[in-house]
Amino acid sequence: MRRTTLSTFAVSCLAAAIATGAWAGAVRPAAAGDDLVPTGKGWGERPAPGTDNASATGQARAARPTKSGNGIGYHGGPVLNGATTNVYYIWYGNWSGNSAVAILSDLGYNIGGSPYFNINTTYYDGSNNYVKNSVTLNGSTTVAYPQGTSLSDAQIQAVVSTAISSKVLPRDPNAVYFVLTSSDVTASSGFCTQYCGWHTHGTIGGTDIKYSFVGNPDRCPSACAAQTTGPNGNAGADGMASIIAHELEEAVTDPDLNAWYDNRGYENADKCAWTFGTESTASNGSKYNVTLGSRNYLIQQNWVNASGGYCAMK
Ligand SMILES: [Zn+2]
Repeated sequence: MRRTTLSTFAVSCLAAAIATGAWAGAVRPAAAGDDLVPTGKGWGERPAPGTDNASATGQARAARPTKSGNGIGYHGGPVLNGATTNVYYIWYGNWSGNSAVAILSDLGYNIGGSPYFNINTTYYDGSNNYVKNSVTLNGSTTVAYPQGTSLSDAQIQAVVSTAISSKVLPRDPNAVYFVLTSSDVTASSGFCTQYCGWHTHGTIGGTDIKYSFVGNPDRCPSACAAQTTGPNGNAGADGMASIIAHELEEAVTDPDLNAWYDNRGYENADKCAWTFGTESTASNGSKYNVTLGSRNYLIQQNWVNASGGYCAMK
């Protein structure tokens, strides 16, 4: 996902211009009939011409959705529909003394079972197995800077791979691994300029592993944070909460980038990026729109796959 879209940014295979604007997902809809496939980075990528099964990035070619009608279509791939979706956090960089660890761990402990996460239960696979309203923060680890402070996409996968191969975290196909970077770390494929986070999948140790990058918006608040003061008093972590929610709900409904997305390549959270619905004011003057556990958060709405489709918080 990204907030600010830059007019200079273009994906080579995406002919549509990027609209300028203050909020994300502002890719001009493609012409009718152009099916785009998600990249996990919040923009659609047109499948390579003449390829039947894979685009240049190895993603499944967009098929015509087999189910649609709520503004988002099903393209045949799996969803995460285990009894619970496990989440693992990999805290990359320097998080010492940072309240982000408590704020975002609490998010992981409390987002499952919430009216908010329940929106994802409107998504299902080809055998009518539905996403469950259950998330378990099942483990976390902290790593310093084994890949330095500017991470390529391959290095981010390596961080996940190392955590699994070293058995610090389990090898779990029914999970989403989050690489959460401190504000002195960037992602070289476009953090702060093209996205604030993304999700994808890869084969790690023979298992299809779903993982996500979420950077610290303290690095670029105007691009990746909705507000400069957050409800938990940590603008970076409060901003990351919305990005984690975004990537998690996309990862459960489109884990392999071949399940639920619309004809622009937008996954469920992309369709509602940077919209928050009804907001309340916290004691420090910041805005929030949901309470999970004992904390308030300002996290974006998600797309309900029912009643024609719409953005909502529950
Ligand atoms: Zn997204």
